[in-house]
Amino acid sequence: MDYVGSSGLKVKLIAYSKLSDFIESKNKDPDLIIAESGSISHSKDFKNVDDQKTRHLIDLLKSLGHESVFEHVSFTFRIEGISRVCSHQLVRHRMASFTQQSQRYVPLNPEFIIPESLIDSEFSDEVKNILENARSLYKKMVEKGIRKEDARFILPQAVETKIIVTMNGRELRHFISLRAEKDAQWEIRKLAIEMLKEAYKVAPILLEDLYKKYVES
Ligand SMILES: Cc1cc2nc3c(=O)[nH]c(=O)nc-3n(C[C@H](O)[C@H](O)[C@H](O)COP(=O)(O)OP(=O)(O)OC[C@H]3O[C@@H](n4cnc5c(N)ncnc54)[C@H](O)[C@@H]3O)c2cc1C
Repeated sequence: MDYVGSSGLKVKLIAYSKLSDFIESKNKDPDLIIAESGSISHSKDFKNVDDQKTRHLIDLLKSLGHESVFEHVSFTFRIEGISRVCSHQLVRHRMASFTQQSQRYVPLNPEFIIPESLIDSEFSDEVKNILENARSLYKKMVEKGIRKEDARFILPQAVETKIIVTMNGRELRHFISLRAEKDAQWEIRKLAIEMLKEAYKVAPILLEDLYKKYVES
């Protein structure tokens, strides 16, 4: 099954930083870790920051540009249903960590991401034919013993891929600021917004400004 536009996109936050029992608090989410970490720069020890002070501290860090504190929390996403066009842009972000589905080891039944503009165009049939031909030639070659690492060379950039991505809070904010912008390419823009929505559930103060700008507006 091929996917039109971002219809196959799946983004799941599979792990994120949580505060240990080192500090007594009901709330152990990434926002509190940032607030506790930020508070140590102005005191001799952790302050046991309460929920009310968390917002004040994080907003202060943002306004001062003291963003290194945001590096103490991390977010890990499982991403499926993106093209290699999109994953190539994603892995340019050097401060993130990646593990991508291997085209050398995983036997593929290649699926493709097809932009709506191509499906809606006069070239729709030609596009579908070329993708179908690439898929069947790839499968035929692998069945006949051509190594997957070589057969993959005939697959177009539209081929679907899966990737695990981990970003710290600072890099996540930077990535979203670049890739959720209106002038970003549509596929990575949709991905950035979905990552923002997932991470916002567990770090609403860290990501509030970006959520308002890119999701609510
Ligand atoms: C709209 C858009 C269009 C683009 N078009 C193109 C294009 O045509 N061609 C192309 O090649 N790329 C293109 N890119 C990719 C772009 O050039 C960056 O490679 C990508 O956005 C990663 O951004 P970054 O380097 O800021 O982030 P990251 O790699 O995630 O790094 C985060 C931050 O860490 C710091 N940092 C990381 N590494 C270094 C370093 N070695 N030295 C100093 N500081 C560092 C920087 O402050 C950087 O902003 C485009 C990106 C966007 C958003």
